[in-house]
Amino acid sequence: MNILVINCGSSSLKYQLINSDTEAVLAKGLCERIGIEGSQITYQPAGGEKEVTVSPMPTHTQAIQMVLDALTNKKSGVIASLAEVGAVGHRVVQGAELFTKTTLVTDEVIDEIENLKELAPVHNHGHALALWACKKTMPNIPQVVVFDTAFHQTIPQKAFMYGFPYEDYEQYHVRKYGFHGTSHRFVTAKLAEVMGKDLKDLKVVSCHLGNGSSITAVKGGESIDTTMGFTPLDGVLMGTRCGAVDPSAVTYVAGKHGFHVADMDNYMNKKSGMLGISGLSSDFRDITAASEKGDARATLAKDMLVYDIKKDIGAFAAIMNGLDAVIFTGGIGENAPNCREEVCENLEYLGIKIDKEVNNFKGELKKISTPDSKVEVWVIPTNEELLIARDTLAMVEGLKK
Ligand code: ADP
Repeated sequence: MNILVINCGSSSLKYQLINSDTEAVLAKGLCERIGIEGSQITYQPAGGEKEVTVSPMPTHTQAIQMVLDALTNKKSGVIASLAEVGAVGHRVVQGAELFTKTTLVTDEVIDEIENLKELAPVHNHGHALALWACKKTMPNIPQVVVFDTAFHQTIPQKAFMYGFPYEDYEQYHVRKYGFHGTSHRFVTAKLAEVMGKDLKDLKVVSCHLGNGSSITAVKGGESIDTTMGFTPLDGVLMGTRCGAVDPSAVTYVAGKHGFHVADMDNYMNKKSGMLGISGLSSDFRDITAASEKGDARATLAKDMLVYDIKKDIGAFAAIMNGLDAVIFTGGIGENAPNCREEVCENLEYLGIKIDKEVNNFKGELKKISTPDSKVEVWVIPTNEELLIARDTLAMVEGLKK
């Protein structure tokens, strides 16, 4: 079966058509600037040339239609007609406490996703728009939603609560949700496969390090704590996000700058992190290059990230009573040997020892710990789209039974 996987934001939509038998990506691409002037679609069939078409996309419905037209195009399309799409799988960022697992889409489910937009203002509204657009353009094709937060719904209450008055948890649902769940689930399942172990028997720290980064403690296949919180702003230093800070620093800085709530949000999400510290860039490649040339603030940004990750590995080892494996994934985790090496330095007391020579590579699945390291350390490229396709297939197969 061919499964269309959609990852939709407020003005952009990434897509992949995946053959679920072979797990091959048949085509992929991106619609940009939906609802904004100058919108365009990028389409790339497997092994073929990338095509960019500039065309108006006033709404998500037109964007979905453009994707379907590209996939079925007589010249460069990879399928003859829509009949060859068996199901659509969507990534949804925030499922809160309502959605603890992958869910089949109904009108009520889309309304609930829309209603959760207060908890994920940048994302959930865009997801709902894409879901309605797919319903309209493909009314007879089942749709499935996979939530970033669902994997973290196993975190115990003592770990997900904030120390605010309990009533605000009940009334406003203020708590830790955690994100990147699809990625942490994918890489931990892969880890068990490559280690030849049952995930039920493993204590793992999964480090997803990209523009947004989160570290998760996975015990027996379940997330039991994670560094991101109510929103993806909490935890380690990120590209442009500050990560964890004392909440009083937020009110103090807002007062000093005369910031309103939205200004402060922008400051913490867009102006901070490695960009804010270095004053140069949010991109880890630029930070590394500048640090190698002796730039002190770039070095500080890198050191802060490494320090945060190291501290979280230690904290999660403490709550799991030890560790069997550490995973590095995401753009930085997969591609930055310097980050992995510095994180693992001086962690011998936890049983972590990596081989610096073996570690010197990018973007592959590989074990980097030494044979005598008690804890196995792996680099595992993530593939959220593939997991969404697998979940979607399982849901659709389940419907047939
Ligand atoms: P997102 O969180 O937006 O999905 P990615 O997972 O693609 O982001 O990660 C982006 C980050 O990965 C950037 O900081 C980028 O610099 C870093 N990165 C990508 N390739 C490399 C590389 N070859 N070496 C070092 N860092 C890299």
